[in-house]
Amino acid sequence: MQAVVKCHAREGLWMCDVAKPDPAPGEVLVKVRKTGICGTDLHIWNWDEWARGAIAVPTTVGHEFVGEIVELGRDVTHLSCGQRVSGEGHVVCMHGRAARAGRPHHSAQMEAIGITLPGAFAEYLVLPAANVVPLPDAIPDDIAAILDPLGNAVHAALSFDLAGEDVLVTGAGPIGIMAAAVARHAGARKVVVTDINPGRLALARAVVDATTVDVSARPLADAIGELDIGDGFAVGLEMSGAPSAFDTMVDAMAPGGRIAYLGIAPRPMLVDWTRIIFKSLIIKGIYGREMFRTWHRMIALLESGLNVEPVITHRLDAADFVSGFEAMRSGRAGKVVLSWPP
Ligand code: NAD
Ligand code: ZN
Repeated sequence: MQAVVKCHAREGLWMCDVAKPDPAPGEVLVKVRKTGICGTDLHIWNWDEWARGAIAVPTTVGHEFVGEIVELGRDVTHLSCGQRVSGEGHVVCMHGRAARAGRPHHSAQMEAIGITLPGAFAEYLVLPAANVVPLPDAIPDDIAAILDPLGNAVHAALSFDLAGEDVLVTGAGPIGIMAAAVARHAGARKVVVTDINPGRLALARAVVDATTVDVSARPLADAIGELDIGDGFAVGLEMSGAPSAFDTMVDAMAPGGRIAYLGIAPRPMLVDWTRIIFKSLIIKGIYGREMFRTWHRMIALLESGLNVEPVITHRLDAADFVSGFEAMRSGRAGKVVLSWPP
């Protein structure tokens, strides 16, 4: 079968012929229909320091997918062939303490599809039946292909009660934009999105009814003065990974405000804790998705009218995956969705 593989320890990814996998007991075989390109895949393409430490060559990449079950491994009884599914890319051991306490997403023994396990940028994907999420017909394939990053957004945005509250989202990447849309859908009062890339802010406005601020052009504090935000934001969603964005957010938060922190800084950063302490801020780190509560919640949000479809800016044949990665690298794309087979 055809698959996009990291086959050399250098920049780039390559479409290669690899063996079609067989589902082991407890696994299913999925015929992939569509996949989303993630920032993580871009790190793997770039072969940066993180990727060099995380990926063994060769590895098929990709972890955002939708497809159809075409074969069940032995002992899989709760799923059936023909079912349209996506799934959680973190494969966890269910015997550890966190998993047994109901938090498998905090498992210390974690493998990841498309990083340490064969990925979804392929005609077929094998994954544990426990990771499979069957989908209602109401969710179209394009959206089903990006449930993984939508799940990051939902996990972050629904970490704190934000109905009737003013919400600040720093970073209008795909995850930040979708988090802003979730906040709006969940009843936030004002949603303000910042970025330093005007194209990304235009995309944010196309997806969600939010005020956008280009913080490279004017200080956020100026905009807040015009927005009737009172003594600051009750909820902050850090979605950029930029240390200066977090700094700005701390300044803009109301006393007692709560921050869901998803963005990953490229290197260790300095934090002025005194301001955080004096404002009594609560900060929660967000990693991945809650298994599987986030999946249930995001499907319910989509079924109740959450629309993130305009965040998809590119729909390409998998054969054109190089153009998809170029669009991602340009900083102008939202989500890029590839159709399979190539
Ligand atoms: P992205 O890189 O597409 O988006 C980040 C955005 O932040 C960009 O549009 C960029 O212009 C903007 N930005 C840069 N500096 C800024 C500043 N000072 N103020 C405001 N915005 C600024 O990333 P994405 O795919 O949307 O992911 C968002 C972040 O979340 C990334 O840091 C990513 O590494 C991280 N991430 C974390 C998890 C997790 O589980 N915690 C999962 C996926 C991604
Ligand atoms: Zn992803």
